[in-house]
Amino acid sequence: MHFSGRTWRPHYEADSCIIELTAGCTYGKCNFCNLYENESFRMVSLEQFEEDLQEIKACQPHARRLFLTGANPFALSYERLKPYVLTVRDYLIKCQSIAMFASIRDIQNKEVWQLRKLRAMGVNGLSIGTESGDDDTLALAGKGYTADDILKQCRKLDEAGIEYYFVYMTGLAGKGGGTCNAVNSARLFSRLNPYFISVDALTLFPNTKLYDMAGRAVLSRQGRKRDCRSYRCLFRICRSGHICLPILPQIFIHYLFICQKKGKAPFQSCNM
Ligand code: SF4
Repeated sequence: MHFSGRTWRPHYEADSCIIELTAGCTYGKCNFCNLYENESFRMVSLEQFEEDLQEIKACQPHARRLFLTGANPFALSYERLKPYVLTVRDYLIKCQSIAMFASIRDIQNKEVWQLRKLRAMGVNGLSIGTESGDDDTLALAGKGYTADDILKQCRKLDEAGIEYYFVYMTGLAGKGGGTCNAVNSARLFSRLNPYFISVDALTLFPNTKLYDMAGRAVLSRQGRKRDCRSYRCLFRICRSGHICLPILPQIFIHYLFICQKKGKAPFQSCNM
């Protein structure tokens, strides 16, 4: 198998076959991220992709799900993505879905009919690092899109029937911003249909803008106790809103985990 650059997949894709399609990130401007700082975005040739498919076929002929590498392979236009996706079943006849990371920007360059066609070709399971659904937090994080963009673009995925997952990051709004971030994010997510929401906590890495801001005391870090509180807000609103049911177990498990670590029982009073 060919793998270059930083290669990783989310924990819930652990059982998927991973194959290189792209490396790096097309954006590279999120204020908390230095994941691909010295790597420019590139895609592999169809020949290389087919060689890797052949190798997967030899080892796992019954593979049912592929995960494409890179921060956002979905950035490739419909025309560029199509030959790769269409080739998969020439080698893996039982492959049911092709998953990958995607950004909100990557959906923008595709029409609903193109998304529908990609879905019919097997593309299903986009992991979208929204991080938040609150405009102030999105701006602080440098995500380059707004809550309204998330709503518009993900509605296209809903229309096309493509399954997607959100990542929410606690602590990203800084001290004092956690509740507002959780409330606005939960309200936005409840208007959409993510299959689940995965939750991360912010880590400040050197060589990132947020790290510098914290160093200059422009940004105050939110403690883990407040992380837990804003998490509870998110959970509570999602639960009482219109969010699809499959989202609940994942949030609940993460929430229980945090409560357990803090030695607290879940569902204590929420001051919201
Ligand atoms: S968080 Fe994702 S989109 Fe943002 S710079 Fe890092 S890899 Fe790129």
